[in-house]
Amino acid sequence: MNYEIVVGLEVHCQLNTESKAFCGCSAKFGNAANTNVCPVCLALPGALPVLNARVVEDAVKLGLATNCTIQRRSILARKNYFYPDLPKGYQISQFEEPICSEGLITIETDEGRKEVRLVRIHIEEDAGKSIHDIGDDTYIDLNRCSVPLLEIVSYPDMRTPKEASAYLQKLRQIVKYLGVSDGNMEEGSLRCDANVSVMPVGSTEYGTRTEIKNMNSFKSVEKAIEYEAKRQIEVIEAGGKIVQETRLWDSDRLETRSMRGKEAAHDYRYFPDPDLVPVLVDDDMLDRMKQELPEFPEDRTARFVAEYAIPAYDAAVLTVEREMADYYEETVKVSGDPKGSSNWVMGEVMRTLKEKYLDIAEFGISPVRLGGLVRMIGSGTISNTIAKQVFEIMQSDGASAETIVEREGLGQVSDSGAIEAAVREILDANPKQLEQYRSGKAQLLGFFVGQCMQKMKGKANPTVVNEILKQMLEG
Ligand SMILES: [Zn+2]
Repeated sequence: MNYEIVVGLEVHCQLNTESKAFCGCSAKFGNAANTNVCPVCLALPGALPVLNARVVEDAVKLGLATNCTIQRRSILARKNYFYPDLPKGYQISQFEEPICSEGLITIETDEGRKEVRLVRIHIEEDAGKSIHDIGDDTYIDLNRCSVPLLEIVSYPDMRTPKEASAYLQKLRQIVKYLGVSDGNMEEGSLRCDANVSVMPVGSTEYGTRTEIKNMNSFKSVEKAIEYEAKRQIEVIEAGGKIVQETRLWDSDRLETRSMRGKEAAHDYRYFPDPDLVPVLVDDDMLDRMKQELPEFPEDRTARFVAEYAIPAYDAAVLTVEREMADYYEETVKVSGDPKGSSNWVMGEVMRTLKEKYLDIAEFGISPVRLGGLVRMIGSGTISNTIAKQVFEIMQSDGASAETIVEREGLGQVSDSGAIEAAVREILDANPKQLEQYRSGKAQLLGFFVGQCMQKMKGKANPTVVNEILKQMLEG
């Protein structure tokens, strides 16, 4: 029998707020263990939480960007469970009344565009962290307690591992464009659980699903779903039944394994948190958030094509990341050459970033400096070959392209006296070729041009070289 895979994703996105969700502690990652803590996030008796307004604003922005209905009134609830790194014995979350509901994210698939519906987006706080890899003991770091998260829950609308990965990448692009999260999967800013089931092709009834945890890259999401679907099909084909459970992805052994029985919502005994008032979103805030929305990739691509007259392909590549698109636009401002700039950003800049595992934000050449370099190529001051040399120097040298070209003597020589002298030398050194040329072998012109350029170390202006050569060859 042929089966269809059914996937829904639950994604936890860590917000990049200064302070935590319910207290004033720093939400910064990487500080010494148990230093970002206070009576509220340590759950000392009598301490009272206060909701961080930025968290609400970020949730509204993400809701607007994903076509959700923004609830004007939502409730914070307690999700009760015991865990050593959860001192309160509950997580503050949202249950019956989340802040955003019924959204939509459009993804690109091999068959074209596809819409994945969202059930909800809700506000949640993170728990602390248990550290198991120091000696035989387990240590607890409570810095992460109460760091703000948004949980984005999709409908089971995805049908292949690739679609799940495309959805996750799109979601990452949206939170990064919004600037509400760094979207870093390896560092856990974006955590994804997948609900996976299989059903016979053509069926409308979903099979029993399992939940897969612990995938920390796009590749592992694809691999884990692929593995899990295959496992489920084998169980069913052998006459067995799928057990509803939570399974862990083991990225070393490339398999999922059972972790625990799946808990249902009622196991958590959710109830409205009596310490927190309802969250209200008024017209004023909604308008403000709408105005703060950035120009998203699709719109920006269209504008780049219209405004800069660059190919749609270039525009799409340049707008994948907001920072890259910003970098490109800054470069164009200085260079005045949209196509030349896109060639350099998509070519040398992206290649260098990839080689050095850098983000554009960490790149040593500012857009103003790159713009200066591109401008010098456009004006004929340097050739493309020399520009590549200058680009290499600029990576470890803070000077402008102009300064480097002058200092290193790399400027293109258009001075006809210098070029004439070089041409004469080349003609004298190659009498045989000169004779052949004069007796009609016109294609030897290229040979002479090449020799002259080599003699002048690539710095001669090729147009001037051509002109002078022709004159002297005729003479
Ligand atoms: Zn605190």
